[in-house]
Amino acid sequence: MPDTSVISSLVELTKQRDQLAIRAKLLATLMAATDAAWIVFCRLLPEGHVEVLDRVPSPSPGKSSKHYPTELFDRVDEFKRGAQMRRPVWVTDLNPYQAIIFLMNDADGHDDFIVLFNPELDGRDERTAVSILDLYENFVALIIENTQDALTGLLNRGAFDRDLEAAALAVSNRNRRCDPPKGCGYLAMLDIDHFKRINDRYGHLYGDEVLLLFAKILRQTFRGTDKLYRYGGEEFAVIIDHASETDIIAVIDRFRSAVETFNFPQVGRVTVSVGVAPIVSNNLPSNIVDRADHALYRAKENGRNQVQIYSYAAKYATADDAERDVELF
Ligand code: GH3
Ligand code: MG
Ligand code: MG
Repeated sequence: MPDTSVISSLVELTKQRDQLAIRAKLLATLMAATDAAWIVFCRLLPEGHVEVLDRVPSPSPGKSSKHYPTELFDRVDEFKRGAQMRRPVWVTDLNPYQAIIFLMNDADGHDDFIVLFNPELDGRDERTAVSILDLYENFVALIIENTQDALTGLLNRGAFDRDLEAAALAVSNRNRRCDPPKGCGYLAMLDIDHFKRINDRYGHLYGDEVLLLFAKILRQTFRGTDKLYRYGGEEFAVIIDHASETDIIAVIDRFRSAVETFNFPQVGRVTVSVGVAPIVSNNLPSNIVDRADHALYRAKENGRNQVQIYSYAAKYATADDAERDVELF
């Protein structure tokens, strides 16, 4: 492979801002830079088995046979050894390829590995792969630093702008449908009630503590696929991947109630108002934010500690909604 293809692959990798896309480009870069016949990305799960999450064969004709030796992934101890030693592990008794197992340190809390299946192991391939993985890890660390809010560890405003645009675009391109009774993406804007009073009464340090605990309740309430942001100050946002309007109301109201019943140290009771809007097609991200903001404004006007949803499907509201602090308009 000529060196220019490695550099082009690296350029592609560094253009990405999404960790999944970066990972896909990482596999392409490793393939361009080494003699591998197959490259596999896998994870050592806490229950003690190894799951293959992605794999790429060499694009060179005739280089990769149809299968790689999958029995390697039953040999969990090799992966445990790699995780412990923090050094590449060579496995030479496989057929038709040999393997090098590399631990990835991309700070996402998983024991992830890249496996190069080579026709024959080569120290040069190991060194090349280690350098590319180092570069990848540094790049991912930079991206995380750039997208995280320093106080709460949630995603920051920059990440919010990018993600909402991507979510709106996906609906407009019809990669994603929006049908409120069945499922839709949603934006929820959350604003802590009378936060200024908390600061005034207890001081900024306690105010910050409330923000931290609020973020913790957010993490505990929402699913891993929902994206959580600190929008600014005491305002937060959640982009919900896909849910029906009934489910969204239930999950947001569960969060509102979790905040209301939480005993914040010193401060005691804190409440939150929430405005929700669906992510529909042909909507600019700013329109979606305006709608959610409008709903939030109604929640504040209506007495706070409640959820309001911008809904073009108010007729789907159920009798249960009347019992929750949720209103549709
Ligand atoms: P409302 O119920 O209408 O939302 O009232 P509020 O007092 O929450 O609203 P307002 O927007 O007037 O006040 C927000 C306050 O949040 C003002 C600002 O000093 C405070 N704040 C913003 N960022 C931070 C922060 O990082 N830490 C702390 N402690 N306070 C912050
Ligand atoms: Mg505010
Ligand atoms: Mg507020």
